[in-house]
Amino acid sequence: MNTETLLTEVEKVFIPINKPSGFAISSHKVGCDLCEYLRKDLEVYSDRLLPSEAIRYIYGEMSCLSAKGWRWVLPSYLHHCLTADSTTDHDQATEFLIYNLGPDLKYQKETMQRLSLLNEKQINCLIHFLEWCAQHAYWSTYCPENINKGLAFMRTLGRNQSVQTDR
Ligand SMILES: [Zn+2]
Repeated sequence: MNTETLLTEVEKVFIPINKPSGFAISSHKVGCDLCEYLRKDLEVYSDRLLPSEAIRYIYGEMSCLSAKGWRWVLPSYLHHCLTADSTTDHDQATEFLIYNLGPDLKYQKETMQRLSLLNEKQINCLIHFLEWCAQHAYWSTYCPENINKGLAFMRTLGRNQSVQTDR
């Protein structure tokens, strides 16, 4: 899948949504410093779409975002990955998204929880993102095993979610 086609799909299936209010954005509501820092870092961003500069606060802390948080950031995050110039500059946000979509066994359950508000088309779009990475000149050689791990995990999820209604 080429970049243009995938960008069009992202824009079509990841409709930007309002920012979840207050604590709803994070995994933990109270007593977690990491979640509190992330909420503070994101306070200045209240729009449906986040600028690329905001992604740097997010990419390493995706485990601090709730399912609602993931649903809010993914339209901007995916757009960032697909438009970042990975040929001349290693884009860490793309690297971390690949890792986040291919969790170790012990983190699979919590990852599924974070992805639980996505509909089937959105899950499929994340699979297409990983397929795009698998063909990408840079990512296909940088972390092919992680991409395959993500594809294997996300494809099982795609099947599980296909029986649910479109939310
Ligand atoms: Zn936390």
